[in-house]
Amino acid sequence: MAAPTETPQRIVIVGAGHASAQLCESLRKGGHEGPIALVGEETWLPYQRPPLSKAYLLGDFERERLFVKPRSFYDEAGVDLRLGVRALAVDRAAKRVLLSDGESLPYDALALLTGARVRPLDCPGASLEGVHYVRGIDDIDALMPAVDAARRAVVVGGGYIGLEAAAVLRKRGLAVTLLHRSPRLLSRVASVETARFFEALHREKGVDIRLGTTIRSIEGAGRVERVEIERRDADHVASDAYEALSADLVVAGIGVLPNQSLAVEAGLPTEDGIAVDEACRTADPAIFAAGDVAWHPHGRWGDVRLESVQNALDQAKACAAAMLGDPVPYDATPWFWSDQYDVKLQSAGLPQGYDRAVWRAGEKPRSGSCWLYADGRLACVEAMNDPRAYMTGKRWIEAGVSPDAAAVADAATPLKGIAAA
Ligand code: FAD
Ligand code: NAP
Repeated sequence: MAAPTETPQRIVIVGAGHASAQLCESLRKGGHEGPIALVGEETWLPYQRPPLSKAYLLGDFERERLFVKPRSFYDEAGVDLRLGVRALAVDRAAKRVLLSDGESLPYDALALLTGARVRPLDCPGASLEGVHYVRGIDDIDALMPAVDAARRAVVVGGGYIGLEAAAVLRKRGLAVTLLHRSPRLLSRVASVETARFFEALHREKGVDIRLGTTIRSIEGAGRVERVEIERRDADHVASDAYEALSADLVVAGIGVLPNQSLAVEAGLPTEDGIAVDEACRTADPAIFAAGDVAWHPHGRWGDVRLESVQNALDQAKACAAAMLGDPVPYDATPWFWSDQYDVKLQSAGLPQGYDRAVWRAGEKPRSGSCWLYADGRLACVEAMNDPRAYMTGKRWIEAGVSPDAAAVADAATPLKGIAAA
């Protein structure tokens, strides 16, 4: 995958999400003076999604605060905002992007920052009124009044979306049953130990968690009245028996799919996302991708597609550098956070391929950290209400330092006193 031979003049960015706002800023800071057009199918300015499943859904966060930058930023940066407009196709030969309003935009360099969309439920009744998803502002603005009117919710999916939504629904007084297909929560995104921590927390808060269980159908006359659920074995094979639960709200958080159809139809290589190199370049030297949609080689973690704010921001910076002809390999240590009830999780590294996990008790109630090692090397720290453990672990991972696991597990030994192996 090659860098463009000359600095591009006209830059088109498709997708107006978290990564795009950063890309606009980094391009201007990097000295790009040519035209930038930002095409987004949503009508909103680029906004941050994390509060949507947390404070915004709770009603504690004003919409204005969601926007990554105010409109004046785009005006002052001379960004031609095309909001409420979808990019339909990329003509690579003519270097043009065809838009849903009939226009076609010429580009010298094109960034596909199209993010991801929710995986929809496919069971009978999935389109009934009362079935909701948690991805964008419009989803939450539709969900909030439904929560006000509901008494019994079924949450489908025990990833971060499902757990954060369940926490808010409980805080808002609903009875909540959470279905998760795998035998343990957070199966894609956290260690077994951390998943157990959150399972205990949610059970204590009154969430009826059903593991190895999924939704079979949603029933009701025009809107959700009842949900039928069924058990799944470890291979996701359904059992014959099922149970009916009365419910007036279904919230699904069963993962996302990368928005890669523009790249597929333009003949660019894709995997689980648009394939780019370590500098965000696709196989076409004029086309780049970053954020939730990018399938990229990521240093010690191999080929991945990451779904986090850190990745969207840092990769957008790397994308700007490559677009401006000064590529730098993107290999930032992944980190993210989650808020559920009074617990803040902070995690650095990735909980993949580890063969040893040690638990370190925290100083406060309901705190502690889980340290994951692969082949004796520290790969990830997941800290609950323990920012010191998070910051120390992140620093160690970034420096390639692997502290002795037994010393880490001994809460009486201060982290700063632990000699690195
Ligand atoms: P997106 O934010 O998905 O933006 C892509 C945009 O492109 C979308 O607006 C999409 O509509 C648009 N688009 C797609 N195709 C086209 C097209 N053809 N034409 C025009 N526009 C198009 N991460 C964390 O690190 N911590 C958290 O606590 C956290 N909480 C989250 C909570 C929620 C509810 C959600 C949904 C996500 C959360 N995330 C969190 C993940 C984080 O928000 C995402 O990783 C980040 O938004 C990715 O940014 P992006 O710009 O790559 O993609
Ligand atoms: P996720 O992490 O993929 O979790 C979804 C879970 O739902 C999977 O573990 C999956 O289980 C389960 N599932 C799938 N189909 C199911 C079904 N039919 N019935 C029951 N369970 C089912 O995705 P997510 O939680 O929906 O999150 C979506 C996006 O939001 C991600 O990009 C995520 O990073 C982002 N987000 C991030 C944060 C954060 O970082 N704090 C917070 C919220 C959202 P299996 O393991 O069996 O497949």
